[in-house]
Amino acid sequence: MSNIFDGTFPVVYPVIFVVLAFTLGAVIGSFLNVVIIRVPRHEPISGAHNRSHCMSCGHQLGTLDLVPIFSYIFLGGKCRYCKAKISPRYWIVELVTACAFTLSLVFLGLTVWLAIAFVLIAALVVASGVDIDRMEIPYTCSIVITVLGIITTIMSVFIGDMPWYDHLIGAVAVAVPFGILAMFGAMGGGDVQLMAAAGLLLGWKNIIPAAGIGIILGAIGGCAELLSVPRHVNKLAKEKSVEIAEKWYANQKEKDVYVLPEKTEAIYGSIFKGKSDIEAECMDTKCWNGTPDIDELNAMLDAELTEVSKFGISIVLTNEKVTKVTCKRQVVFGPYLSVGILTAYLFGDLIIAWYLGISGIV
Ligand SMILES: [Zn+2]
Repeated sequence: MSNIFDGTFPVVYPVIFVVLAFTLGAVIGSFLNVVIIRVPRHEPISGAHNRSHCMSCGHQLGTLDLVPIFSYIFLGGKCRYCKAKISPRYWIVELVTACAFTLSLVFLGLTVWLAIAFVLIAALVVASGVDIDRMEIPYTCSIVITVLGIITTIMSVFIGDMPWYDHLIGAVAVAVPFGILAMFGAMGGGDVQLMAAAGLLLGWKNIIPAAGIGIILGAIGGCAELLSVPRHVNKLAKEKSVEIAEKWYANQKEKDVYVLPEKTEAIYGSIFKGKSDIEAECMDTKCWNGTPDIDELNAMLDAELTEVSKFGISIVLTNEKVTKVTCKRQVVFGPYLSVGILTAYLFGDLIIAWYLGISGIV
């Protein structure tokens, strides 16, 4: 427990600070809701008044409709004017941010670590929200955390909380195994960037529990997510994607565009809410004779896989043949990794001490 809770201050001060941290978190959370929607669309975040109208009836919202957390509760999750249901996600993002701010205050006190925690929480909330929405972690979130990592690395030279190079080792220590997982398709590039940035911030000792918690939660949550997809959707996605890949490649070959003999090329992408997004960056021209028409592939997938949401797709072409097509529901790891990162930031030392204790090492 931290300075303001150790009894040296009258009890009213901690209460005031807790209320302030919760309120600040709720207000910031309300702002992050806007960021989560706008960042992937590359829209400016300034002048964010998109919640000042009801999404259904367009009625101008008053101050009472816009109080973070409380408006949602008092209005019973419905628009005051047209009674349309309001998505609970706004309320959840506000509540999660408020609770994380409060928890950080309680454990870190009024220190520079608290300021870093507030920025870290904001970046993790946006990373998680965008990952849930779009199956990608915006690199701006990782950049913000990297900046925090650089600040703490410089600070460690003066404060000596850990050797400065522990931060650098932290960035590499986790980026390498996560990079390997990403190569096998278990994670996305955004996950690797996020963990490397977090490694720089936390140092190598604390990034280990962060990664451990993230992976365990991800495995549990991932299984639940995978089981929630109706069987017929999975089956349809599998059959259709093979069919489409073969038809598309046959079309390409007709235009004299093909994978060069003895070359292997994989085409990656995702299908999100029935909209496919195949990335051309893996289309190495050294492997191809001519330029494959990726737009055509996207259009064919869009037309057929309308029921599919949040699926990852990869097509492997070897020796001028379609040799492997996978189309499966992807686990969104960002939120789980974020929980791991924040937990390790706040309680990493406690977790390590506990773990070494039960394993009998110390
Ligand atoms: Zn309305």
